[in-house]
Amino acid sequence: MGEQLQGLDIATLLVVHQMVALISTVVILAGAIHAKGRFGLWFWFGSFATTAFFQLLRDNGPTSESPGTAVLMGQYGVLLNATFIALAVKSYLGKPLRWHLISAITLCTAVSLWLLSRFVPESALSLALTLAVAAALTAVALSDLLQAYRRERGFALGFGTFLIALLLGRLFLRGLIAITSADDGTALAVNSTALLIFIAALVMQGFAILMLVNDDLQKKMLALAEYDELTGLLNRRGMANRFKRLLDRARRDGAPQINLAIIDMDHFKTINDRFGHAAGDQVLIELAKRLQTLVRPNDLCVRLGGEEFAVFWTGVPADMAAAMAERIRLAISIRPFQTREGLLRCTISIGLCQMKPVESLDDFIDRADQALYVAKEGGRNKVVVLPA
Ligand code: GH3
Ligand code: MG
Ligand code: MG
Repeated sequence: MGEQLQGLDIATLLVVHQMVALISTVVILAGAIHAKGRFGLWFWFGSFATTAFFQLLRDNGPTSESPGTAVLMGQYGVLLNATFIALAVKSYLGKPLRWHLISAITLCTAVSLWLLSRFVPESALSLALTLAVAAALTAVALSDLLQAYRRERGFALGFGTFLIALLLGRLFLRGLIAITSADDGTALAVNSTALLIFIAALVMQGFAILMLVNDDLQKKMLALAEYDELTGLLNRRGMANRFKRLLDRARRDGAPQINLAIIDMDHFKTINDRFGHAAGDQVLIELAKRLQTLVRPNDLCVRLGGEEFAVFWTGVPADMAAAMAERIRLAISIRPFQTREGLLRCTISIGLCQMKPVESLDDFIDRADQALYVAKEGGRNKVVVLPA
């Protein structure tokens, strides 16, 4: 391959392309391992690996002697690349992975390509088939990305879209080659341009992956910072963030009543002192579990700290909230807690109040705390509702 394109040597381009593909593959593999078990990254990695593999096979392997096989390999590469990218985007967006369907389409196309290449000497038909399927798969990925744009905006997402656009551009150029292949010079020029675009796409893909890994880690860290380690419930920071969303949703739905219950274990110090801190921890974990089974997914369940918890209910009147708080109190006091020191009976006190039309979260909590104080003063193991 000694052809020149405006001073560019295609053989050199190919070597550069292979090096970039290989380096990217290693980077992606490292990224995928680093972000343990992240499905999407493996698909991205698959896209890289197949591209690199088929490219190497085409240019250095046994196929270099047989142009027909080389073309076929190139088509398989494009096809698998598009498949993996479509799966990667879906997985990244947390969409249901209908990979059976996507894989079946890819497999059928691959078999058809092989049959076509065997029985039809002209490869234009099989190329058209690859392009059509690859374009369809890439279009699915693109539409998913655009949809995700409306939900969240981020650099990684922008990059991903750019990448898919580049791949579409490359597919388009490949289509041009198919049409203009009668003229060797034009085909070569288009092919070289496609190769350049492809190298750019590979580099972009590498960056996009690193950003996805970064995004992923950032999300994980943010999530960790919002949850309590012992019970898995939201912590105070998580509560503040969710409370804003809860308020917005409640106002939007026209159901602005928000009720807050502050829950505090009775004589928890005694449990710790008599049975040890570990048994105390077991009680807290079990308490959190029971709370979660008693609230709806849209209600907030929070560990405020120590042995103090909070539950926010939206869209229910005060008397109903009081009934639900009473249910929580009973769920704790009736059934003893299984700990390593045996079964322990525990009770809780609950202070409940309804949010005023204009009130800060801190003030809201303060008022529920006042009700809790009354419950404690009144002998514990009871629900006290602060009058409006
Ligand atoms: P009261 O009925 O008045 O609420 O009495 P209490 O003993 O529950 O109240 P107090 O707030 O004085 O005690 C809370 C205890 O909770 C003190 C602390 O040792 C214990 N505690 C706080 N965090 C944890 C935790 O993560 N694990 C365990 N095992 N105990 C904790
Ligand atoms: Mg207590
Ligand atoms: Mg307390």
